[in-house]
Amino acid sequence: MERREIRIPWFLIIMVALLAISFLLPSMNSTRRLSSAELEQVLSKPDQITEIDVQPAGSNDTAEVTIVHVNGTKMVTTVPDAAVFVSDLKDRKIDYVMEPVDNGGIWSWLPYVMMAVMALLLVMPLLSGRMGMGGMNAKMADFGKSRARLAEDNKIKFADVAGMTEEKEELEEIVQFLKDPAKFRSMGARIPKGVILVGPPGTGKTLLGKAVAGEAGVPFYSISGSDFVEMYVGVGAARVRDMFETAKKNAPCIVFIDEIDAVARRRGTGLGGSHDEREQTLNQMLVEMDGFSENQGIIVLAATNRVDILDPAIMRPGRFDRKVVVGKPDVKAREAILKLHAENKRLAEDVDLSHLAKVTAGFTGADLENLLNEAAITAASASRDSITQKDIEDAFIKSGIGKEKKSKVISERDRKITAYHETGHAILFHLLEDVGPVHLVSIIPTGEGAAGYTMPLPDKDDTFVTRGQLMHMMMAAMGGRIAEELVCDDITTGASQDIKQVTGIARAMVTQYGMSRKVGMLNYNENGDDVFLGYDIAHNKTYGDELLSTIDEEVKALVDECYASAKKILMENRAVLEKGAAALMEKEKLTGEEFAALFDR
Ligand code: ADP
Ligand code: MG
Ligand code: ZN
Repeated sequence: MERREIRIPWFLIIMVALLAISFLLPSMNSTRRLSSAELEQVLSKPDQITEIDVQPAGSNDTAEVTIVHVNGTKMVTTVPDAAVFVSDLKDRKIDYVMEPVDNGGIWSWLPYVMMAVMALLLVMPLLSGRMGMGGMNAKMADFGKSRARLAEDNKIKFADVAGMTEEKEELEEIVQFLKDPAKFRSMGARIPKGVILVGPPGTGKTLLGKAVAGEAGVPFYSISGSDFVEMYVGVGAARVRDMFETAKKNAPCIVFIDEIDAVARRRGTGLGGSHDEREQTLNQMLVEMDGFSENQGIIVLAATNRVDILDPAIMRPGRFDRKVVVGKPDVKAREAILKLHAENKRLAEDVDLSHLAKVTAGFTGADLENLLNEAAITAASASRDSITQKDIEDAFIKSGIGKEKKSKVISERDRKITAYHETGHAILFHLLEDVGPVHLVSIIPTGEGAAGYTMPLPDKDDTFVTRGQLMHMMMAAMGGRIAEELVCDDITTGASQDIKQVTGIARAMVTQYGMSRKVGMLNYNENGDDVFLGYDIAHNKTYGDELLSTIDEEVKALVDECYASAKKILMENRAVLEKGAAALMEKEKLTGEEFAALFDR
């Protein structure tokens, strides 16, 4: 029972978090809260109001007022005296709806009840010595009831998910299976049990999961990995069992596990709940997934933004053996998302959604939705009957994304430089045979600081890397900067990562792999550090000055040699460089095939 001391802080953290949430909930809502001055402004234009709801608080004279603007925006405010407000409305001849007295409603007291339960559970282990383990287990069994939520009459369809053509295609077969599992069963077809959706927050993973259920017309049970991370060992596992129990009774259905990384983190990586707890929960999940048969009609969808920290055990065949990558939308997809979310909003003539799509590289679907919503709120509180371009510009600044991403709205100059830079890498990856062909070239910012990326196909399974390969790797890494030099009057700081990589490889060739004649077959990297991380060994050691400068000379000679060859290739392929950059500026993303086609003719 030495665990007791560890558990208490978790309770406290959760209680504090709950309290914070209960305060934040109203303000997080996307509806807008009006000040009394703003309320006056809105009321002064009654013809722009579609609906007013007045809900007296009951406990005092105040009332919660909800106003729906003609452009669809919802606004709320609290008035000090319901009766006075209503008579004011009558004077102005504004129609309103009087709601029954608000006696709290489940959402207002739920956090407090949960806190009380938490508090009770906090004290229980302290009493458990007297109570005996039997009593404890009974209580825990109750607690272990799944919190899986059933999305009632989920009507989301693929049409509600803009862009994502390939992702939808990949999931189409699952939709077909859920619609008619028997058909697949009789064909002996094997359908994956689990599909993992990987992508940054806000890119529409949950939306896509719901759309799969909606298309197939099956129930959608969702639970978040972070819900599983409880303080009592065994609770998470019980919950998993319960959830799958429900799913089996209601098959065909979708079980959606959000934030699966919270439970399925690679064993032995720090933070987040007790270790045993997470492991038990994960094990139970694997047992359950192994336990139902492929064609039982349950598809488990999981979402995460960190596939790299997942326990490899969950990706084994028969578990989550299918992966769908949900990336940030490219310019076409952004336009589609904006159009979709603009459908129920009135836009002024001067709003150009395709232009807006162009300047929002790096925004997720959620960011775009939020942006339009903010603009609608701005328009509504200014009592305009449609959203103007100016409202959208203000929304950039006002919304959370604005503050953080305004600076990330990419200038045309940066887009151009990035397009040339990535094309430079890609041309070398394509032409040099010792480095992989191009898989994808993109100038969509990653959110981790990269303005773009060029992804080669994974290398062949060679055990040893040859000198030629290392040279080609350096050349491909330099391609970005060289392309910038060729087309722009100036060069940028954008290539620092590439330069670090080049230096790392060259230094390893000289100090570790014995690939320099002058230095010879000596290892100067006694730590055996991975030089590909750019670890600078020579400056930590006390070799003679002469040897140090020989190493530096040799490193520089290698780099210079690669630089010259790479530059020659890029100059010879200047036309492709131009075509590639132009295509990237237009589409933001090129597949390997699309890129290879640039070399035709
Ligand atoms: P995730 O689960 O990846 O964090 P969500 O599915 O919760 O993202 O997306 C949040 C919101 O963003 C959605 O409810 C939707 O309004 C909007 N959104 C995201 N992607 C899209 C898209 N492709 N099409 C339409 N709306 C989108
Ligand atoms: Mg989500
Ligand atoms: Zn680069």
